[in-house]
Amino acid sequence: MTLNLRYDQGRIRKYHYFMLLSLIQKYKKISRSQLAKLTKMSNTSVGKIIKNLIDDELVIEAGQTDGEIGRRAALLEINPIGSFIIGVEMDKNGVKIAIVTLTGEVIRERQFAFDPDQEPYRLLDKLGEEITILLSKMDSSINKKIIAIGISIPGLITWPEGKALRVPQFHWENINIKAYLEEKLDFVVYVDNHVRTVLLAESLYGNMRNYNNSVCIYIGSGVGGAAMVNGEMLRGHRNTLGEIGHMILDPHGTVCDCGRLGCLQTFICSSELEKQAQMPMQEIFSAYKEREDWAVKLINRAQSYLGLAISNVICIYNPEAILIAGPMIEEFPILIDNIQDEVNKYIWAPLSNSFHLVYPEIGRSSGVIGASALVLNEFLRFTNDDV
Ligand SMILES: [Zn+2]
Repeated sequence: MTLNLRYDQGRIRKYHYFMLLSLIQKYKKISRSQLAKLTKMSNTSVGKIIKNLIDDELVIEAGQTDGEIGRRAALLEINPIGSFIIGVEMDKNGVKIAIVTLTGEVIRERQFAFDPDQEPYRLLDKLGEEITILLSKMDSSINKKIIAIGISIPGLITWPEGKALRVPQFHWENINIKAYLEEKLDFVVYVDNHVRTVLLAESLYGNMRNYNNSVCIYIGSGVGGAAMVNGEMLRGHRNTLGEIGHMILDPHGTVCDCGRLGCLQTFICSSELEKQAQMPMQEIFSAYKEREDWAVKLINRAQSYLGLAISNVICIYNPEAILIAGPMIEEFPILIDNIQDEVNKYIWAPLSNSFHLVYPEIGRSSGVIGASALVLNEFLRFTNDDV
């Protein structure tokens, strides 16, 4: 049956349609002849498909290439308001809902707090109501152009089913987020782990744009990871690939919240450092700045284990770039002061200088923008899956 697809002209046209759209997204501004060169398609074929993309309002002409007079060509770019995505970020601090453009701009946002012990499906009911309220305040021309809903959540999420196997922050187990919301709302819903959405957001709109082989290490109240190879998000058998926080680095170390000893996160995440020092992170870092011996030891050890983790991750994935993200880095950048030196201490010689350490461009809105990036990524991935 799949063999016949090769001869299905409609599908091939669709394939080229999304391929050109994803190239325009990647290069930001590109001419028709540059697209023809990149794809080895004829100028005529590219011209026809671009006309469809412009007619569908997904692409616009914006400016011209530099060059000799008479040889200038129109540059194409994504029409940011050609379609919109609803991005949702859920964590213990509350729920944020945003309408996001195709270029990652938030045009309207709404948020609400909730009790993490609330019955899970009642919280999803509330989320559905809040999305409906947000949409009722938007112009109907925008509502008509919404592609789908993306949800970013810190937990173990199945893919593509969008079921939360475990969300420790809310004490959730086996909650069918995608199925439940799709039934309630008239939209397709994508749900994924927060760290993956952060890496996707930076890859589509931020500092990771130029890297096809990348890893994210995310440090907050726990430690998470995500990896992309050849521009594709790696998920593993149960969509849990990259859970580096629970790699055991010292079998004689302190107890992790997973019940085992010496997991990576026991050395670097905020909840564990707070537990060990018996005080909030702010005070730990103040003591570190005052050069109090215990605090210097604790933070130096955290830096050292972060360097160790990065060098181990480089051995596994051989990435071009490593995104180091999360609230711990945003709030206490001191943690990464000498991180390149720390990595250099542990890196396997053949891989030294093979990678860039990168910090986020998007920052605090990365949750809702990342959730929208999850949708856009699936939309553009049509080229890989459905042909
Ligand atoms: Zn653990």
